[in-house]
Amino acid sequence: MKLNTLTKKEKKNLIRILIALSLFVVIFVFDKIFVLANVFDGKFGWLFPFLLYLCVYLIIGYDIIFKAIRNILHGQFFDENFLMCVATLGAFGLAITKGVLNEQIEGFDEACAVLLFYQVGEFFQSYATNKSRKSIAALMNLRPDYANIKTNDKIKKVDPSEVNVGDIIVVNPGEKIPLDGVITNGSSTLDTKALTGESIPREVTLNSAVLSGCINISSKIEVKTTKKFYDSTVSKILELVENASSQKSKAENFITKFAKYYTPIVVFVALVLAIVPSLFTSNWTTWIYRSLSFLVVSCPCALVISIPLSFFAGLGLASKYGILVKGSNYLEKLNKANIFVFDKTGTLTKGNFVINCIYPKNNYEEVLRLASIAENGSSHPIAKCILQKYNKSISNNNYFLTNIAGQGVIAQKDDEKILCGNEKLMQNNNINYTKCNNAGTVVYVAKNEQFVGYIQISDQIKDETKEVISQLKFQGIKTIMLTGDNEDVAKDVAQNIQIDEYKSSLLPQNKVEQIENIMASKKSQDTVCFVGDGINDAPSLMRSDIGIAMGSVGSDAAIEAADIVLMKDNLKAILFAKKIAQKTLRIVKQNIAFSIAVKVAILILSALGITNMWFAVFGDVGVAIIAILNAMRVNKIKNV
Ligand code: ADP
Ligand code: MG
Repeated sequence: MKLNTLTKKEKKNLIRILIALSLFVVIFVFDKIFVLANVFDGKFGWLFPFLLYLCVYLIIGYDIIFKAIRNILHGQFFDENFLMCVATLGAFGLAITKGVLNEQIEGFDEACAVLLFYQVGEFFQSYATNKSRKSIAALMNLRPDYANIKTNDKIKKVDPSEVNVGDIIVVNPGEKIPLDGVITNGSSTLDTKALTGESIPREVTLNSAVLSGCINISSKIEVKTTKKFYDSTVSKILELVENASSQKSKAENFITKFAKYYTPIVVFVALVLAIVPSLFTSNWTTWIYRSLSFLVVSCPCALVISIPLSFFAGLGLASKYGILVKGSNYLEKLNKANIFVFDKTGTLTKGNFVINCIYPKNNYEEVLRLASIAENGSSHPIAKCILQKYNKSISNNNYFLTNIAGQGVIAQKDDEKILCGNEKLMQNNNINYTKCNNAGTVVYVAKNEQFVGYIQISDQIKDETKEVISQLKFQGIKTIMLTGDNEDVAKDVAQNIQIDEYKSSLLPQNKVEQIENIMASKKSQDTVCFVGDGINDAPSLMRSDIGIAMGSVGSDAAIEAADIVLMKDNLKAILFAKKIAQKTLRIVKQNIAFSIAVKVAILILSALGITNMWFAVFGDVGVAIIAILNAMRVNKIKNV
């Protein structure tokens, strides 16, 4: 623990704990050696030690008493503050009674110690929570504070939300890009670390698309915005992270419910324990004491604190590596996921198509020009590669563009109709095309019902794909590939990466059907995870038990439909996310088992009167601290 990483409030609490602890030790030693009870004679012997311990009690416990009273006023009786107050004030009362009855003077120290150690536990909890919050806060730093809007050669600083689509904004070196857009002037290097968790600088020049949240490193650029602030990447990501903690895991919901019923039951049992045996034995002080110790141990702190904390640490760690998990319930599901379904293009393959050959029926240039007109509005990797090859500005852009998912695109203007896509598109439009016999993905182009030519392209398998698939298989996970591409390409890729199963020539709705079939035929303990790049596959992301969208920074549909968003385009992040999920859940289970076992043991012992309150408080706080430290091990998980 480093002191300079503590928040102001934590420092204040630490000082308070240290002061109270020193006072407590001094008083305790004096009490035992010089017997403070002898300061006042006889009947009032208890008064002096009582007053001294009461000071310590108030220093360390005023906020707990305050919280307990506030909650009672709000109608919430049975929370941990209440338990602690009843137990400690009860212990004071008992000690005073014993003193007045002139039995013995003892027990004030215990009442203080309970609160003192309780606060030590609270301190650990706050420290651990803040530590995880910091990795999430690093993400929160993404939020841009202003945008420099350019109007008539004047530059004005405005709130990012005031900028409209199409406005020109100026981003100086060192500034954050506030909205998504396209560079209209200048070129520079961007730091995308905040978005992707990877500090690989990205070169951008005229016409490059830039995403909000990146930091401009080298030189001034002008950006024409393409989205409003609330639609921009940075807003979407922040929204996702902010909402993550509201999606609770089953374990957390169980604990909340558990605490709700458990605490009143414990209070009731404590009452019974104080009253019933006393009626028979008339030994009120002994049984009230046992009942109070019982209350101290029964506080469910360790569970209530450490379980959400473990999940929180898991979410925080993941976000630090560009893995955004929308809630702890998804960590729970990812831990269980044993069927992984992958989209091919852009997920298992790079999605960086290169053109192998262009076959023109008449005119080579014309094939490329028509294809480029049609692809001009598409975000599909195929479109990118064709536009890149054409590399000319598309002059006439008032075509009406339609995207036929899983088939291609259609551009229409007046009496002109361009078709650009796979064989299905040609067949559905009764085009008499020449089939390409080479292996690879083929884009056929037709104009006004006439076949113009085809472009044969190919993609590359990502470097890490093979390893990731084999690692998943090694973990006993079934792997399946779904693709809209043709059978030849699909078979080739599937054999190359040794995936268990594959299905080809699927339209997006067929992909969803496949997912539904898998979901319907799976066993009840199976969990299906779909991994896609978010282009054309939002429905599959939503339909599966858990949807992972990768490399999808900038694709809103994917960010919305997915449960986990990988900001990097690297498949290994899936292995790491799975590892975080597995370890987090293992730690959660350890904590549940450990704290319940210790609690039950001490509860029985204290009900039988074998333990005293000291033991109880160490049992309670000790278990909580061990559980918290265990939860913090989540932060130590190493990247794969
Ligand atoms: P996958 O991601 O599995 O390749 P898609 O649904 O994205 O599946 O695409 C399936 C097929 O549809 C592609 O292989 C291609 O033949 C065709 N296609 C989709 N979009 C386009 C496009 N913009 N231009 C040309 N062909 C396209
Ligand atoms: Mg795809």
